Amino acid sequence: MGLGNPGSDYEGTRHNAGFMAVDLLTKKLGRFTGWRRDGVLLRGQGRAGRNRVEVIKPQTYMNRSGEAFRELIREGWIAPEILVPKGYRAVVIAPHPDDECIIGGLALRVMLEARMKVINVAVTQGSKKERQAERFRELQNACKYIGFGLIATGPNGLEKVNVKTRLQEQGQWSECVKIIADILAANQPRVIFFPHEHDWNSTHIGAHFLVMDALKQMPAQFQCYLVETEFWGQMTDPNLMVEISAEDLTELVTATTFHVGEVQRNPYHLLMPAWMMDNVRRGSELVGGQGGIAPDFTFAALYRLRKWTQGRAEKFLDSGKQVSRVTNVSALFP
Ligand SMILES: [Zn+2]
Repeated sequence: MGLGNPGSDYEGTRHNAGFMAVDLLTKKLGRFTGWRRDGVLLRGQGRAGRNRVEVIKPQTYMNRSGEAFRELIREGWIAPEILVPKGYRAVVIAPHPDDECIIGGLALRVMLEARMKVINVAVTQGSKKERQAERFRELQNACKYIGFGLIATGPNGLEKVNVKTRLQEQGQWSECVKIIADILAANQPRVIFFPHEHDWNSTHIGAHFLVMDALKQMPAQFQCYLVETEFWGQMTDPNLMVEISAEDLTELVTATTFHVGEVQRNPYHLLMPAWMMDNVRRGSELVGGQGGIAPDFTFAALYRLRKWTQGRAEKFLDSGKQVSRVTNVSALFP
């Protein structure tokens, strides 16, 4: 935030050194959006490497800049290191290579805004044996691009991760659960992203139960936030709609293209914008409440946020939450 006084009287004077400094800064930022008026603020966004930068010129006079600052605190723009101690991790349980990009809107924001290390766990490497090694390489490239860490669950990933195995092949299932439980124990995630239990695809549903069964093996004092994701099957009760900026959406679509073989088979990455627009339609009612006023989002992702505590998943939000792109997502994980 650069301080100064609005109007032409002060242009180019020492009173506006703050404005001039941020103007210079914006020339160094990647993808600077330009300035737009927002209440008592002029604001713009850009990127510096992997960091998101919000630039502000308060339009109150200098001696009332505190008002502008309060506005920013209210929005959640508190230095993340104050809100979130360093070293927290988030784990993404991706049933297939590519799911980490598709559902990764909030994970990306968690990395950029809450400064958590996001680690993708490759549950499977797809069902086609001949493609498994290649799919892992594609996944490595996608994770490298987006900035996520990557953990393999085995040389070719886990096999037969589905409800049928859970019911009928308990030995095989227990081995898979143990691998996930060991990964959770080693990483002590603050947040776990994993599919909800009706995500249609049998491996997605399998991955849901894999995580729930692994959590039950964790020590009783283990706590974390559970973020359930959806793609193939819609959740009936999402409680979180997260706005995805056009810039972040671009990152996700680009990261998905590293799954070369998959997007050649089906260019589904091109449909991500349309899917995320439809999420705004659904989320404004399902998350915002029936008949609620729709937020001014263009793209969004829907999730169900709960907390794992005392050996079970607990609701802790009183009502649905809609998180705009200017709110720091750290606030979701107090
Ligand atoms: Zn999948």
